[in-house]
Amino acid sequence: QNTINKIAAGEVIERPASVVKELLENAIDAKATAVTVEIREGGISFIRVTDNGCGIEKDEIPLAFLRHSTSKIQSVEDLFTVSSLGFRGEALSSIAAVGQVELITKTSRSLTGNRYQIEGGQERGMEEIGAPDGTTFIVRNLFYNTPVRRKFLKTPMTEGAHVADLVEKIALSHPEISIRFIQNNQNKLHTSGNHNLKDIIYTVYGREITANLIPVSVTGEAFSVEGFIGKPVIARSNRNFENYYINGRYIKSNIINKAIEEAYKPFMMQHKYPFTMLHFKIEPEFLDVNVHPTKMELRFQNGENVFRMVRDTVAEALRHKEL
Ligand code: ADP
Ligand code: MG
Repeated sequence: QNTINKIAAGEVIERPASVVKELLENAIDAKATAVTVEIREGGISFIRVTDNGCGIEKDEIPLAFLRHSTSKIQSVEDLFTVSSLGFRGEALSSIAAVGQVELITKTSRSLTGNRYQIEGGQERGMEEIGAPDGTTFIVRNLFYNTPVRRKFLKTPMTEGAHVADLVEKIALSHPEISIRFIQNNQNKLHTSGNHNLKDIIYTVYGREITANLIPVSVTGEAFSVEGFIGKPVIARSNRNFENYYINGRYIKSNIINKAIEEAYKPFMMQHKYPFTMLHFKIEPEFLDVNVHPTKMELRFQNGENVFRMVRDTVAEALRHKEL
């Protein structure tokens, strides 16, 4: 059982950023309005994620760490129809298999909170403790029991940069949640949660980009998009600035990159790429659900339709603008 969990954990948990991703998504699923992420040593020795969400009832705590136990889910087909980000119930069991986990959680219904510890898949005890409503996860010494995996980690600086990147992407996908990121006791990011995407773009990307944005807003039946695209003057030399989310998920898709770039072609020099921050809502029937959710790659049932919709939307936004 233990070995199986350790192996399975490798699919979901590759590095500190994967732990932070899973914990942050759980906080979002728990309807938190404020989440704090703190890491030390790139997250290798210490990760703490605190939310003010619904909390976990005492009886449910050990269950949450069982493999394939989820309170959300249902089937893989539901991946893009259910509103929650988690669905397979693998994250907590995987994290607990390869780290030293401490959980403090309290629901608004119960008078006291609980503290639960689990290391390498072994329970280390549960006790009542005073706590605010919500949940705190602490993960210490990731891969302490799988030295080979630990050796594959990069330096704390590199791992920390991956975490920072991930937290920024999630903050940008949820302007309605106040997200704070603390790295080695320093405040790195703090979004207000006031729904203003532009504020977050400013916080993450700075003034030059924020001053050169074109708003995009299209509402259709099967396809809607909200967000911003950058004027060609802020073109970049790589694709890292082409951000988009589908139904709340940060994903990568060749088709969408190509569609965006095609629309920009008349305005761009070769080997230059635009800034975009687009939130798509696409009917699940257009999405190929046969994806690995941690890989963030997505295929479409009807790629040509999606290509055309994205290209035309971006082209339209670029038309008649002072570029
Ligand atoms: P999944 O998110 O796929 O359901 P996880 O392993 O990530 O699976 O979490 C297992 C369960 O633990 C969740 O379904 C949820 O009920 C509970 N849980 C995890 N994190 C939180 C949290 N921050 N707040 C409330 N409940 C949580
Ligand atoms: Mg989850």
